[in-house]
This record gives sequence, structure tokens and C-alpha cells, in this order.
Amino acid sequence: MKPTPFLILALILSACVPATAVITPTSTLTTTPTPSEPTATVSFITQIASATSTPQIGAETGDLYTANNIQLGTPTCDGKPTLAQTEGPYYTPNTPERNSLIEPGVTGQRLLIVGYALDVNCQPIPGVWLDFWQADANGIYDNAGYHLRGHQYTDWNGRYFLETIYPGEYTGRTLHIHVKALAAPQSDMLATQLYFPGVSANSQDRVFDPALVVCLETLGETLVAYFNFVLEK
Ligand code: FE
Repeated sequence: MKPTPFLILALILSACVPATAVITPTSTLTTTPTPSEPTATVSFITQIASATSTPQIGAETGDLYTANNIQLGTPTCDGKPTLAQTEGPYYTPNTPERNSLIEPGVTGQRLLIVGYALDVNCQPIPGVWLDFWQADANGIYDNAGYHLRGHQYTDWNGRYFLETIYPGEYTGRTLHIHVKALAAPQSDMLATQLYFPGVSANSQDRVFDPALVVCLETLGETLVAYFNFVLEK
């Protein structure tokens, strides 16, 4: 669904601009960050299992934030773990590792989803595996390939950065983006969904929960969605 002028206004009114302070992670990880290799052909279970002794950390996202004029402030968190929701019928494992789902053939309103993975004490968690999947602008999932699907790991500051498009509606559901998150091999997998403010279908959707609505703002031609995942490690 392409946002209408009314929706754009609603998005602006509902925007929550983050603070600009830069956080200092308290992680004890002190070695130099090393961008991870693509692991498209390896199952995530294997990836996670093999990361037990050496946490797999995502590519440093600072440059992506800078290039897109996004300032990610001090993470906000009430200590409550992010609400779990059904993963639905359209999950595909073994997705490519990538920060951008934009590739030839992907059309729609450009959307950036950014934020932190935090523990229940609101401390950033590096190396959290995040796997996103969504419908295209026409509300259609690619169930044969990896169109609009991809996983990544949070960076050494616990941040993630996803470049994608605003999802389309499909019958029976309001607009949403699916995500799975795993903080560590021994952790419980979180499956949940992210929603958008100002979408009329939210109120008719039986799965929708307002706790999972992103903060949304417009930045030029781009929509920027902020959401922090809070995970029980
Ligand atoms: Fe869905």
C-alpha cells in the first residue's frame, strides 16, 4: 500500500523522534568487530550453534545510519520482553544475510527499520540474530525464493539496520512485517510482528497488538521506523 497524504500526515503526527545521545554499551566484548561472512546456504540453527564460543556479530551499522542521516539515540526500554506472536505460514529458513532487501524487481515506498536489541535491563546485545520477512507492495509473499527476506546480526552496539519497503496489505491482515530474534544459542526464539501507526486495518486485525507498533517518521522520501527488541537472554 502506498501511503496516502492522510497516512503520511498521520505518520508524521505519530512520529517519535529518538534522542540523539550516543550510548556506550556495557558489553564485555572488547575485540575488534569483524563483519561476518554471508551464510545463505547454512541453516540458522547451524550458524547459531557454531557461534557458541565466538559470537557472530553483524557488520558495523554506523555507516548506514550516517549515510541515511539517522541518529539512533539512547535506547528506550521498559524492561518488558517484546511480545511474541505467531510466525504465520510464510516463514522460509536459510535466508541470505543482508541489511537491505532492496534488489531488482522490488518496488514500493522505501522503508528503513532501525533500532536495538536489548536485554531486560535495557542493555544492548551484540550478535543477536534477526530474520525479517514480509509481503511485497501488492501483499504477496515470495514462498519460492528469498524476495523480501533476509537475516542479519546486531552490531557491537546492539544495533540493527534494515532497508526494505513498506509492506502491502493482504486479505485478512493489517500491514505488518515478520521477524524472528535469537539472542544466544541457548535462548528462546522470539517470533513476532511489527505494525505501523495510522493504519485503519489495525483495529480489525485479530493478531495486531499496539505494543508492536513502530515509531515512524518521514525523512525525505523515506519512512524510518524505530523499534527496539527486548529479549530474555
Ligand atoms: Fe504475514
